[in-house]
Amino acid sequence: GKKQRIDKVLSHMGIGSRSDIRKQAKQGLITVNGTVVKDSGFHVDPYKDLIEVGGEVVRYREFVYLMMNKPAGVLSATEDKRDRTVLDLLKPEHALFEPFPVGRLDKDTVGLLLLTNDGKLAHELLSPRKHVPKTYEATVEGDVDAADVEAFAKGVELEDGYVTLPAQLSILGRERGSKTISYISLTITEGKFHQVKRMFIAVGKKVTFLKRVSMGELKLDESLPLGACRELTDAELALLT
Ligand code: URA
Repeated sequence: GKKQRIDKVLSHMGIGSRSDIRKQAKQGLITVNGTVVKDSGFHVDPYKDLIEVGGEVVRYREFVYLMMNKPAGVLSATEDKRDRTVLDLLKPEHALFEPFPVGRLDKDTVGLLLLTNDGKLAHELLSPRKHVPKTYEATVEGDVDAADVEAFAKGVELEDGYVTLPAQLSILGRERGSKTISYISLTITEGKFHQVKRMFIAVGKKVTFLKRVSMGELKLDESLPLGACRELTDAELALLT
């Protein structure tokens, strides 16, 4: 972990406000690795240093599990030279845990993105052998029809020769005009690069808007504004483990 100010760490852990912590430190109530620390700006590694307040060990929570409604225009990467990443959108009390996105959404894709610092859970959700289903809603240029539903159910051949696993396509609606636009929902159980867009290219259609609405049993909280993030509830976390 990174070193952080002890008043910041303790206030994020709910021990008190930063001014409460400053007072407790001044009173000599806070120790780090057994040594009294009177300066509330002292830097600690919350994962490694033993912090005690009033003689009680404070256990730093190890893991954080966050649901973000990813907006368009940000990368689901941890760093980038040019573009903003989803990490830039985190509140400090979440960023403190150094979470990373579980899998990738394209820069222009919106919706459910899980972030955690729990490498084991991330690994399990991403394991190709687990086939965790992911459901997307999309706007597609063209008339998505029953033949496409059937083709996706069988598997379609992408431009590189890869044949996708069976996927469940539902047509949610259509707008007929000079160009027909279709609204669809698609559930896939794998995560090849640009998979949804490439599956539609394989049937001669173009995705113009893509939103992930679920991952496994976890559903996007539609009340989360784009760019906002909240911790999973215990019930939501149980759906993933
Ligand atoms: N499929 C895509 O094409 N893009 C995404 O962001 C996710 C799935």
